[in-house]
Amino acid sequence: MKKDVNENLTSDCSTNDWPKISENLSEIAVDSSDIEYKNVRSNYMRVGSPKIILMAKTVSDVREAVLYAKNVRETSKTYVPFSIRSGGHGMTTDSVNDGGIILDVSQMNEIRMVDDKKGLVSVQAGAVWGDVSAFLSKYDRVISSGDFGDTGVGGLATAGGLGLLVRQNGLTIDHIKEATVVTADGRVHLANNQKNKELFWAIRGGISNVGIVTEFIFEAPKLLGENTETQQMPLPVYLQTVRYESNKLGEFVKNWGDWIRKLPNELTSIAIISKNYEKNDFYVDVMNLWAGDNEKKADPIFKNALNLATVIQSETNLLCYTSLIPTPHEKHQAQESNRPLNVLVDQPTETLGDAITKVFDDKKVVAVELRSLGGAVSTVPVMETSWSGRKKEAFVAVWFDTKNVQIAHKIFEPIRKLGTGAYGAYSFDTSQDFANLTWPEETGQALKKIKKKYDPTELFDQGLTII
Ligand SMILES: Cc1cc2nc3c(=O)[nH]c(=O)nc-3n(C[C@H](O)[C@H](O)[C@H](O)COP(=O)(O)OP(=O)(O)OC[C@H]3O[C@@H](n4cnc5c(N)ncnc54)[C@H](O)[C@@H]3O)c2cc1C
Repeated sequence: MKKDVNENLTSDCSTNDWPKISENLSEIAVDSSDIEYKNVRSNYMRVGSPKIILMAKTVSDVREAVLYAKNVRETSKTYVPFSIRSGGHGMTTDSVNDGGIILDVSQMNEIRMVDDKKGLVSVQAGAVWGDVSAFLSKYDRVISSGDFGDTGVGGLATAGGLGLLVRQNGLTIDHIKEATVVTADGRVHLANNQKNKELFWAIRGGISNVGIVTEFIFEAPKLLGENTETQQMPLPVYLQTVRYESNKLGEFVKNWGDWIRKLPNELTSIAIISKNYEKNDFYVDVMNLWAGDNEKKADPIFKNALNLATVIQSETNLLCYTSLIPTPHEKHQAQESNRPLNVLVDQPTETLGDAITKVFDDKKVVAVELRSLGGAVSTVPVMETSWSGRKKEAFVAVWFDTKNVQIAHKIFEPIRKLGTGAYGAYSFDTSQDFANLTWPEETGQALKKIKKKYDPTELFDQGLTII
C-alpha cells in the first residue's frame, strides 16, 4: 500500500508549512522513507537530499507538479528549491537539490516516428540521446546531439546541443520543429514557428528559463552512404583518431583552427588536450568525424590532419554513427566528480593555445576540450534561436578536479579573457556573469522579457537562469 506522503511532509519542522499533496501527486511521489529514494535522489554529478521527488508520467503530472511547487514557494516561510530533471546529466548539477522538490520526467521517454518521409520524430524530454540515436538508425536518420548516450533530451535540447556532426547538421536545437511547454502558471502550450513563437524561440537555447518542455518534434536528417561498390554501412561516418605530442600548444591550436576553417561541413573535429607532466609536454587526442562514406573526399583531409603536429599514433575507420554513442543506462550516483567551465571563441589562435598551456600550470586541470563550430551552426541567423554563439569558431572547455567554482575560475582566467560567448549547458558556473556571456545583448534582453512574461515569480530558478 502506498504510504501517505503528507505524513512525512509535516513530520519535519522545517517543512511543516508545506501544503498538502494531492492524491494524484502522492501516487508519483518518492521521499526519504521509500526504498526507491536512494535510486532517484541524485544526478550524474551530485548527491541530492530533496524532500520529495515527483516522478511524472504524463503532461498532466508535470502540470500538477508545477502548480504544487508554486504553491509551496508561496506558502512556505523558507525558500524551497524546485529542480527539473530529464536525463540527470546537467553540468550545473542543479537538477537535484537539498530540502526541496525535484520534478523528474525520465519516465516520459517515448520516441515515435511521426512522418517517415519528412523525418519528423516525436521525442519526450525524458528519453536519452543514445536511445534516440538507436531508434533513428532504423530510418537512416541522425540528430547530432551529445557524445554520451545517457545524456538527456530535456536538458540538452533546450540548451543547444554540440554533437559529433555539429558542423554538418548544426545544433540539436536547429532541428526542433515544435515543442510542448508547461509554464509556471501550469498552462500547457504548443510552441512552433506559428504558435507561441516567443516560447518557441526561448526554449531553443534558453534552457529552463521559461518552462518545462515535455515533448519535442524534431526533423531528423538522413545520413546515407554514397559508396555503392561495397556493402553499405548504416549511418556511415569516417572516424579518424590522432594522438599528437606537442610542447607548442600555441602553434597547434592555431594550425588546428586554420585547418578547420577551410574544410567542408562534413568534417567535425574534437580535441582533448592533457599534460604529460613527466615530459612537460602535451598529448592532443583528436577525433575527426566525416559525415558519410565518401573516402575520396575524406582521405586528403585526414592526410592533412597528420601535419598539424608530431603524430604518435593515428587510425581511420568507417563506423556506424550509433556505435560512437555509448549508452550504458547507468543509475545516477554522482559518479562524475570533475567539473567544467567553458567559453566560445571567435577563432582558435596561438594566444588561446598559450592560455591553455598556462592553465595546465595548475594540476587541478584535468583536460581541455576544443570543439570545432562553424559550418551549419554559423548559417543560422543569430536571433533565430536563443543560442547566440553562431559566429564563433570554437568551443573551449576546461575540466577541473575541484568542485569549488571560485578556485576553478581563478585558474580559468587566461582562457576566460579570450571568450566572447559561452555554452550554458557545459559549465558548473551559474553566476549572472556567465548567464550574460551565454545570452548576451539582444538575446539576453529578449530572453529576460519572455521569462518575465511566463515566469514572473522566478519559479524556474535552478541551473543557469537569467534575471
Ligand atoms: C558525460 C556528458 C557528456 C556530455 N556531452 C555533451 C555533448 O556532446 N554536447 C552537448 O551539447 N552537451 C553535452 N553535455 C552537456 C549536456 O548537454 C547538459 O549537461 C544537459 O543539461 C544534460 O541534459 P539532461 O537532461 O541529462 O540533464 P538534467 O540534469 O536532467 O537537466 C539539466 C538542466 O536542464 C534543464 N532541464 C532539464 N530538463 C528540462 C526540460 N524537460 N525542460 C526544460 N529544461 C530542462 C534544467 O535547468 C536542469 O537543471 C554532456 C554532459 C555530460 C555529463
